Amino acid sequence: MADDIAAGSELHGTGIGRGIATGPVLRMPDPLPEPEETTSTLTADAEKERARASLAATAAIIRHRGERAGGSAKDVLEAQAFMAEDPTLIDDVGARIDAGKTAERAVYEAFAAFRDLLVSMGGYMGERATDLDDVSQRVVAHLRGVAAPGVPDPDYPFVLVARDLAPADTALLDLDKVLALVTSDGGPTSHTAILAREKSIVAIVGVQDALRLTDGTDVIVDASTGSVSVGPSDADRAAAAAKAEEIKAARSSATGPGALADGTLVPLLANLGSADGAADALAKGAEGVGLFRTEFLFLDSSTAPTVEDQKAQYVRLLQAFAGKKVVVRALDAGADKPLSFLNDAPEENPALGLRGLRALRANEPILRDQLMALAAADAETDAEVWVMAPMVSTVEETRYFTTLARQLGLKTAGVMVEVPSSALLADRILADADFASIGTNDLTQYTLAADRLLGSVASFQDPWHPAVLKLVGEVGKAGKAIGKPVGICGEAAADPLLAVVLVGLGATTLSMSPSALADVRAELARFTLEDAQRFAELALSANSAIEARGAVTAAAAGA
Ligand code: PEP
Ligand code: MG
Repeated sequence: MADDIAAGSELHGTGIGRGIATGPVLRMPDPLPEPEETTSTLTADAEKERARASLAATAAIIRHRGERAGGSAKDVLEAQAFMAEDPTLIDDVGARIDAGKTAERAVYEAFAAFRDLLVSMGGYMGERATDLDDVSQRVVAHLRGVAAPGVPDPDYPFVLVARDLAPADTALLDLDKVLALVTSDGGPTSHTAILAREKSIVAIVGVQDALRLTDGTDVIVDASTGSVSVGPSDADRAAAAAKAEEIKAARSSATGPGALADGTLVPLLANLGSADGAADALAKGAEGVGLFRTEFLFLDSSTAPTVEDQKAQYVRLLQAFAGKKVVVRALDAGADKPLSFLNDAPEENPALGLRGLRALRANEPILRDQLMALAAADAETDAEVWVMAPMVSTVEETRYFTTLARQLGLKTAGVMVEVPSSALLADRILADADFASIGTNDLTQYTLAADRLLGSVASFQDPWHPAVLKLVGEVGKAGKAIGKPVGICGEAAADPLLAVVLVGLGATTLSMSPSALADVRAELARFTLEDAQRFAELALSANSAIEARGAVTAAAAGA
């Protein structure tokens, strides 16, 4: 039960980015209760007809939403519509109705069984389980004649408050109406946080008491401080409006190359998963590409891509970034991103298994093909191509990859630092590698032993944790000592204040979702290298991620 939170109170969570917004709360409706185990009073045929009609209507509604949304949301929703039309699932619903269940109960149980099957498959299929729950709820709502759960659609702008958001909900958010997002669950690397960053939505995740906020209550959502102010006074509203204006002005005035206030250059690069995002990244001021996730090109392929196929994709990207640096990552398959042609054996703990460079090395012809395709694309274009290996955990692996890449014609070969062992031996790794790029998403996952996909341990997945920052500092120190670049390409680089800390720890470039570039550029311009180093010391001496963020936020406010 939601009980009112007194005006003047503040709730706290993890802010995503720097935005601020004021508006009335609108809660995401609670999920529908589980349909009861009652015996149907209708004939089996009548129940089957009800189920059939609701499944078909739900598929049509979802498909229509997809067409309205376009882009990648269309594909997500088309896949959901297919789930409601799956013949095996429809047969299962029929069999359960024959056993005496109501259409509601039969739909609920059949989807749940399908969901459990997907979860047991793990990886990409396991993640689709949430989508299936969403479809199940929609069909049951249709059968009951009640509104489908999901993002409300009033005719005024609002602050959306939810436990967390399903991918289908986030993909369809109407950015003209959703002023801000506040969720009770989720950490800084959750799906909601990543999407909020991508779409520049003001967001605070992990706000414990968020679900006590009631519809219509006015709140100020300030991502830079991670605070939700309830029932603000006129003076609070005016201050929030002024802060929003300031942020807008800072974003538009901070143009050109990324740099600190003292002129220290910090090139700002884009993370991309296909050449399609190149024009947008350039328009947002990307000075190059710091992470090209090549595995995203082939997630649906059942066979390894040919050299020709790959070359064509790489040429397209390199042409778009002519004259600029492009860091291409060799296929990072496994765990959350399995590629069927590289990961064929089931593993109990795929994040600790044959993933990244380990999988490539076990299938060396595929790695060779990729490096040859990239070298050929490099020869035909004018971008400055760097190549790096994912999930490197030893000096020996570094040597293996950089030697092979150079043999196959690539001039600049480096490694990602995503495993604590690589950070701890960064001096030796950088003796072989031309550069290091720190993947803070995986580095946080492995340092804190917290699965980056698991909501129940999301609070551990915080790159502000001093243990993670200490490892980043090790790599920064090693890079400086040996005179080699150290980039950051995990989500941490997209958090403006953390980006300053990372530079203080020795990062020489930052790579992020293009939508984060403006805020990070503006934040860097506020501080000198000396400030950044002071913030880094403060963060390193904290006992927790929350303490580190708090200490640096306070110091930045006074700087
Ligand atoms: C990372 O782990 O931080 C990273 C950039 O790689 P990915 O998110 O693709 O695993
Ligand atoms: Mg990674």
